[in-house]
Amino acid sequence: MSKVIKVKEADAELRSRSFEEVVLGYTEEEALAEAGRCLQCKNPICSSGCPVGVDIKKFIYYITQKDYAAAYQTIREKNNFPAICGRVCPAEYQCRNACVFTKKGSPFASEKAINIHYLERFVADACMKQGTAVTASRPELSGFKVAVVGAGPAGMCCAGELARWGVKVVIFEGLHDTGGVLRYGIPPFRLPREVLDFEINELKKLDVEIIPNFIVGRTRSVKELFAEGFHAVFLGLGAGIPSFLNIPGENLGGVYSANEFLTRVNLMKAYEFPKCHTPVEVGRHVVVIGGGNTAMDAARVALRLQKMSGLEPDTTILYRRTEMEMPARRLEIEHAREEGVKFELLVNPKAFFGDKKGRVTKVRCARCELGAPDVSGRRRPVELAGSEFEMECDVAVEAIGLKANEILTKVTPEIKVDKWGDVVVDSQTMETSLKNVFAGGDIVGGEGTVIEAMGMAKRAARAIIDRLLMERKEERK
Ligand code: FAD
Ligand code: SF4
Repeated sequence: MSKVIKVKEADAELRSRSFEEVVLGYTEEEALAEAGRCLQCKNPICSSGCPVGVDIKKFIYYITQKDYAAAYQTIREKNNFPAICGRVCPAEYQCRNACVFTKKGSPFASEKAINIHYLERFVADACMKQGTAVTASRPELSGFKVAVVGAGPAGMCCAGELARWGVKVVIFEGLHDTGGVLRYGIPPFRLPREVLDFEINELKKLDVEIIPNFIVGRTRSVKELFAEGFHAVFLGLGAGIPSFLNIPGENLGGVYSANEFLTRVNLMKAYEFPKCHTPVEVGRHVVVIGGGNTAMDAARVALRLQKMSGLEPDTTILYRRTEMEMPARRLEIEHAREEGVKFELLVNPKAFFGDKKGRVTKVRCARCELGAPDVSGRRRPVELAGSEFEMECDVAVEAIGLKANEILTKVTPEIKVDKWGDVVVDSQTMETSLKNVFAGGDIVGGEGTVIEAMGMAKRAARAIIDRLLMERKEERK
């Protein structure tokens, strides 16, 4: 069997002093060699691992034929933003885990599994360079107007699908910029902003209008949108509200939620200070609490800020379980470690302590062992008696989960929510309990992945299109 083609990455020491992209992607020669490893299985199972069922065998075949435009169109049939997913998809749990080269039942993909995500990125980047992205639109639904609430991956995907049918789409976004978590959460060294801006421009080419600084539920209600002539509304509100540890000292200065910390850096560009006037202080010692992608992003950002401001880097991730249970992508854990982030595993923070000025100075933790599985199926951390210890910290970042933002649903009681505040939908059509209001992404079922959010948005768009086609038929009778 031919050799796995490893993707090139920027040097760990150099890259951790900048916000430049870490994973450099395949050259054409490398992509052809990696695509050539695909066995073109008679009954491929890899697509079953992709939440939207990209026809992986087919697009890889087109790469081997150097027909990159056909490869791109194949991916785009299911995935609207391949350049984004090729960079952020947790492929080791998804498509690569279903590749025939991964042993059945293995928790993550084997090293030998085809690097499907890097091939997807190669094709998308090649087509992006040539400026070929938008598939032809069909004007059948011109005259209809749909409001999309939220410009994250779910909203962007739904908008693109509808606009291709000639629907007039207006995206209302609460923040001053587009992209949702893709812009304010995921740092540019994982997802360069040119890639995101390219996709936003593609939407604009389809005549999608984007209105920033507009909170639906405050600036206008859903009811008012219908009164203004919108035929349907799609809610792509995300899960933007951070959970907190609820331990003593949490209100001290220097204790951030990961959302606030990452937003200050990624959206307000603290790393370009003094060019941008929004610095964020990191200090000598940073602790980040959590084991997901958000924790890895916050730690890698903090470490970069320490290095860029000339400090000796000291950033530590505190996590209650072991590395096996960490929900973060394996690659992000590896990259964080290579760059110098330290890991304190099986550790539970108990309290923060501060100085006279009210700034955090240390965190008290207890060591744990793993007990019986909890409701999530993961083994529950159990604190060890007498194991408490303290660590210095000038900044602490809590990255322990996100939940639904209820601004819109609280003022729209006709939209049913569950006990977590997530919107309840029909799983086939993604319609909510309020007629002609659809939802998808993290606001349905909580924190997920970018491709899952897009999969739901595509389902909702399909249902909206079917409904509008019926209305058009009625109009013509
Ligand atoms: P969001 O991206 O949250 O977008 C929702 C948008 O709606 C926001 O822009 C918000 O401002 C806007 N909004 C909310 N309410 C209103 C309102 N009332 N009016 C107007 N606008 C409103 N997934 C991966 O697949 N791979 C990764 O590597 C990865 N890394 C991540 C790193 C971080 C730090 C975080 C936080 C998440 C990460 N995820 C990752 C998860 C992924 O980003 C989410 O699953 C995805 O962004 C969800 O998309 P969405 O469109 O539903 O919501
Ligand atoms: Fe794999 Fe994500 Fe592409 Fe699906 S969209 S094939 S999961 S990289």
